[in-house]
Amino acid sequence: MEKFDVTVIGGGPGGYVAAIRCAQLGMKTALIEKYPSLGGTCLNVGCIPSKALLDSSEHFYNAVHHFEEHGIDVKAPKVNLKQMIERKRGVVKMTVDGINYLMKKNKITVFTGHGSFLTKNTVEITKADGKKETIETAKTIIATGSKPSSLPGIEIDKKRVITSTEALELTEVPKHMIIIGGGVIGLELGSVYARVGSKVTVVEFMDRIIPGMDGSLSKELQRVLKKNLEFEFMFKHKVTGVKATAKEVTVSALNSKDEKVEIKGDYCLVAVGRRPYTDGLGLDKIGVKVDNRGRIETDDHLRTNVEGIYAIGDVVKGHMLAHKAEEEGVFVAETMAGQKPHINYNLIPGVVYTWPEVAAVGYTEEQLKEQGKKYKVGNFPFKASGRARASMDTDGFVKVLADEATDEILGVHMIGPRTADMIAEAVVAMEYKASAEDISRMSHAHPTFTESMKEACLDATAKRAIHI
Ligand code: FAD
Ligand code: NAD
Repeated sequence: MEKFDVTVIGGGPGGYVAAIRCAQLGMKTALIEKYPSLGGTCLNVGCIPSKALLDSSEHFYNAVHHFEEHGIDVKAPKVNLKQMIERKRGVVKMTVDGINYLMKKNKITVFTGHGSFLTKNTVEITKADGKKETIETAKTIIATGSKPSSLPGIEIDKKRVITSTEALELTEVPKHMIIIGGGVIGLELGSVYARVGSKVTVVEFMDRIIPGMDGSLSKELQRVLKKNLEFEFMFKHKVTGVKATAKEVTVSALNSKDEKVEIKGDYCLVAVGRRPYTDGLGLDKIGVKVDNRGRIETDDHLRTNVEGIYAIGDVVKGHMLAHKAEEEGVFVAETMAGQKPHINYNLIPGVVYTWPEVAAVGYTEEQLKEQGKKYKVGNFPFKASGRARASMDTDGFVKVLADEATDEILGVHMIGPRTADMIAEAVVAMEYKASAEDISRMSHAHPTFTESMKEACLDATAKRAIHI
């Protein structure tokens, strides 16, 4: 039986990053992934393919709506969905190939098959052809990720009633896509199809989209999506069932007055969150505890209740984000090596890759109110940015929340062009406990979108923004 210092189960961004860091630290490392393609949800059916389609559909949207104003005459552009999906597959393949290369480079032994605990130090790998192999391991990191959730009364037939996985592989542009859930997946994939011509209806249980984020972002994103695309929103609607025929779907819901509502379309995307995935892992055999939501229980060192077994990423508590999973992978590897790493969960940024992009870090205004914290608000609208006017991206704003007494930045909430990249400045600032004035006194290249962060800080620190 081959012996390893550490075995990682799951080859997503949590698992493969953990494996690389373990190998860098000198541990003999195995990685078990049940699919032939490494990279997990993120690379295969998540972050990367969704961003590839978001980029393609955004090009199409600009060709239709903005080229003429820019002085570019093209004959009426048409969508070639087959080619968009094909290009997306190419991007995924290139990215997955990169991970294969990294595994070889770091001398990580990759096993393809389903991993399952026999004892706390032996893991069995069942290959696709049913053949089994067993390895011995001193320590194990569980990084088995998550799968889409559904709701009672909904059968996901993967044809008309679909999850994000199928939405990345459609063969036609839907006429009317009904999306259950106005969260990240619903709005990103809804944007893809709305840009290429679908009517999109979002049915959301809460009273706003992206409910976990600062309320000002929900409001502005809703406004812009409605203005630019054929998006319709039905809030405070509780979906009770979905029926599908060969060509049609009917979504039933109860509105806020408890009246029954029916919506008809040709596709229904169910995007109501994801559930941790531990099927067939053999946790019961070794006594690893899970909580009432099926997440593996861990302490603040990401240790499970069984000695030598750690868990990271979507399968444990916290935001289901690739970069959170990666941080946790590094954290566990370094902890095992006797180091003292640290993760500041409050400073893990959240991004929604719509256009305009939405990005945030730290506390929301709602959270600060709830804590009874005294704070100042700085705002800067992109319509006052020269860079945004040049690129015709004037929707949105940067909002900075700072402590009223100390001026320390407590939260940054952005909606606008390239805010997904801009938010990194806010993370660095907050990690170093910068005040709004600190940022406002640093030079930001002109003309860039990042000047809006400086201006919002000027507004927060002493209401002295220059360009508003
Ligand atoms: P996963 O990526 O889910 O990987 C787990 C792996 O474990 C899988 O490959 C699975 O096959 C394997 N596995 C499970 N059980 C076993 C077993 N018993 N044996 C062997 N292998 C097993 N996050 C972002 O930060 N940014 C984004 O832009 C973003 N976009 C997304 C878009 C979509 C459409 C979706 C669905 C998700 C998106 N996410 C995004 C979330 C992100 O994909 C996840 O947070 C991330 O993949 C979690 O990483 P993980 O390693 O914990 O799990
Ligand atoms: P989500 O939690 O972001 O949104 C789910 C939405 O569904 C919520 O707004 C919720 O109120 C709503 N909902 C729940 N039950 C409902 C019901 N019965 N009827 C109507 N609405 C209902 O989940 P998601 O969009 O499915 O995404 C899953 C995970 O994937 C998220 O945790 C997210 O972090 C991750 N993800 C991240 C990104 C990114 O970082 N850009 C992109 C895609 C996915």
